[in-house]
Amino acid sequence: MAEYRIAPLSRLVEQFEHFPGIGYKSAQRMAYYVLGLSDAEVKQLSDSILEAHQKIHTCKVCCNLTDQETCSICRDPARDHSTICVVENPRDVVAMERTQDYKGTYHVLHGVISPLNGVGPDQLHIRELLARVKDGSVKEVIMATNPTVEGEATAMYISRLLKPLGVKVTRLAYGIPVGGDLEYADEVTLSRALAGRSEL
Ligand SMILES: [Zn+2]
Repeated sequence: MAEYRIAPLSRLVEQFEHFPGIGYKSAQRMAYYVLGLSDAEVKQLSDSILEAHQKIHTCKVCCNLTDQETCSICRDPARDHSTICVVENPRDVVAMERTQDYKGTYHVLHGVISPLNGVGPDQLHIRELLARVKDGSVKEVIMATNPTVEGEATAMYISRLLKPLGVKVTRLAYGIPVGGDLEYADEVTLSRALAGRSEL
């Protein structure tokens, strides 16, 4: 007996299964949702996907995502262009902007150095960062990669390249999360929190 299968539906489910965090069940739910939409709604959905994909690219200065030549942060004269915060991906920029405390600019690496996953320094936007610093107007670079093994290694690698250029390189202080408990914090978190302590 042939397997019960509707080919176009299976293909749609397969496409959704490629989405991060989406398993077969969720992909199936999404596919049935799409089937339930009107022709006009489906066109709107596929147009949005196409438009976002065609119009959004990396900012030629900071490598953040933008639909212009440079992003709105790089274009903003009110931002402090002498400070660059280096992050792993564009979502980190959104997170930092939510604090409303940071007034400098960013540099987005689009990943971290990860030999296990075959990602070397050349695949990240490190060259663009060095070019910005060599320009001479940058005073401080804040390394804000994640406190993971790869994030730490990437921060160390980049800071070794930056220091000879005479720029101040700092690392984001990671600590105990608000509402967290000292006894449950791992030793890396605790030692980082200690190193990043500030005067009261
Ligand atoms: Zn930019």
